[in-house]
Amino acid sequence: MTLLTTHNLESYYGDFQALFGVDVTINEGETIAIIGSNGAGKSTFLRTLTGLLSSPTDSIVFDGEAIGGIAANEIVGKGLAMVPEGRRLFPSLSVEENLIIGGYSERPGPWTIERIFDLFPILKERRNHPGTALSGGQQQMVAIGRALMSNPKLLLCDEISLGLAPIIIKDIYECLPGIMAEGTSVLVVEQDINQALSVSDRIYCFQEGKISLEGAPGELSRDQISAAYFGV
Ligand code: ATP
Repeated sequence: MTLLTTHNLESYYGDFQALFGVDVTINEGETIAIIGSNGAGKSTFLRTLTGLLSSPTDSIVFDGEAIGGIAANEIVGKGLAMVPEGRRLFPSLSVEENLIIGGYSERPGPWTIERIFDLFPILKERRNHPGTALSGGQQQMVAIGRALMSNPKLLLCDEISLGLAPIIIKDIYECLPGIMAEGTSVLVVEQDINQALSVSDRIYCFQEGKISLEGAPGELSRDQISAAYFGV
């Protein structure tokens, strides 16, 4: 079943148009990766989905409801949650408090603090530490857990591997099957093409605010992906 569709989605920063006619579909149970170089419009796409940038009502349909232009706090309540680029933990709060804040929307669902500690056992050990006393990878786990606490149907992850060592990136991505098993679909924005291809059912490549390529990893050649990514 279709979970999210965007129809001819456009997005602007003032007069500057950053997205042009973007059509994306995400089905329930899918992991989708969005790839593209710096400035291609990946973060803008996520900001538009989550109501941080405005869009016409019918341009985004989520779970059968037109949600374009709805305020960001209401969107969380509808089941869309974002793990922002740079994690943005509350530095003076503990791991546990950061997680509790994520649960404010009170949507029913499988995700509780204990379930998140099952997914990331290290966070249970560190539950009373301030967010800033954690390693980058552990902070990323808190950011993912905080988003899951709102019991989203779709989890949007913006560059979760940025600045992390390969071994830590592997640890982080290993949580995806556990998240999917609870019925949460996942969209990752990922600059690392190999990482994106290895975790996703389908990818969309963005270039200059448009979709330059889409398809399942097995259907796309390296040449096609390079051309779509770098525009050569
Ligand atoms: P990155 O990997 O660098 O985050 P991205 O694919 O996420 O790249 P966006 O951040 O979505 O790209 O940027 C898309 C376009 O919008 C770029 O031309 C960028 O300069 C512009 N842009 C992004 N944020 C703003 C802003 N706050 N104000 C004006 N223009 C912006």
